[in-house]
Amino acid sequence: MPRGMIVDDADIMRLRLKEMLAGQYEIVAEARDGEEAVSLYEKHKPDFVTLDITMPKMNGLQVLENLIKKYPEAKIVIVSAVGQKQLVFQALAAGAKDFIVKPFEPERVRVAIDRLFN
Ligand SMILES: [Mg+2]
Repeated sequence: MPRGMIVDDADIMRLRLKEMLAGQYEIVAEARDGEEAVSLYEKHKPDFVTLDITMPKMNGLQVLENLIKKYPEAKIVIVSAVGQKQLVFQALAAGAKDFIVKPFEPERVRVAIDRLFN
């Protein structure tokens, strides 16, 4: 079972993502801000990451750039809010594999993660 890390500063978002991925993926770490995301990635080396954009300390784009520089093979899916199109484009250009827009459908989330492994 692929091991994932969920990064979001909102508890409810992490919980919902975790529920949507349960059964098919093992969530090995959850991070609430950008700094925690980088340190937990290094500790757990997850197979994939869902990465919120708007977060304290370090935003998702900074986390993405930091991780891709060290781990070019990292599988990172960006989680954005509506109206963050520009940031999403930047993230895709910087190496994100896909993006999910909040509020998201469970099916869209699963498709985005499943695609990373096919
Ligand atoms: Mg956020």
